[in-house]
Amino acid sequence: MNIILFGPPGAGKGTQAEILVRERGLVQLSTGDMLRSAIAAGSELGMQAKAIMDAGELVSDDIMIGMIAERMEGADCAGGVILDGFPRTVAQAQALDAMFADKGISLDSVIEIAVDETALFARIEKRAAETGGARSDDNAEVLKARLKVYHENTAPVLPYYKDKGQLVSIDGMQTVEEVSSQIASCLDSVA
Ligand code: AMP
Repeated sequence: MNIILFGPPGAGKGTQAEILVRERGLVQLSTGDMLRSAIAAGSELGMQAKAIMDAGELVSDDIMIGMIAERMEGADCAGGVILDGFPRTVAQAQALDAMFADKGISLDSVIEIAVDETALFARIEKRAAETGGARSDDNAEVLKARLKVYHENTAPVLPYYKDKGQLVSIDGMQTVEEVSSQIASCLDSVA
C-alpha cells in the first residue's frame, strides 16, 4: 500500500507516519528528513537546501522529484511507502503519478490532515521546545513563510487528488490516537 500524508507544517504528518511504520510496516519517505540528512552530511545539495529551508521556501521540483525517484528504487520500498512532505506542488504530484505508472504501482490513498492554522504556531513552538530547537525552521517567523508557501504552492495539490477521487480528509485537531484511528479505518477501507 502506498499513501500520501498531506497537510501544512505541524499538522502531524510525521507523527502519524511513525505510527503507520510501526503498525503496518510501511516505509516512511519524508523529503524534509532527507534534506536534513543532506545538510547534516554537509553535501552540496544540503548547503543549497539549508538556505531555502531556513527561509521557509521550497526546494526545486527537479531536485525533489529526483530525490524521491532515487529513494523509490530502494528494495525496502516495494512493500509500500508513506510519502510525508511530498508532493508539495502540482508538478511534483504529476511527476509522482508518472513515476508510479511507470513502475506499475498504485497510489492507494491521499490523506489530508486538516488543522486549524492558529493552532500550528503553538504546535511548532512545542516541537521546537521538545527537540531543543533541532530544526532551524521551527519558529513563528519561518512558519508564517511556510504557511504562505503552503497556500500558494501546496494547497493546489488537494483539488488535483480530489478530482481523481483519491482524497480523504481527516480532522487533525483531534488527539493523536483519534487521528490515527481514523487513518486506520480509511486505509482498511481501501485495502
Ligand atoms: P518538512 O520537514 O516536510 O516540514 O520540510 C522542511 C522543509 O524542507 C520545507 O519547508 C521545504 O523547504 C523543504 N522540503 C521538504 N519537502 C519538500 C518538497 N517536497 N518540495 C520542496 N521542498 C521541500
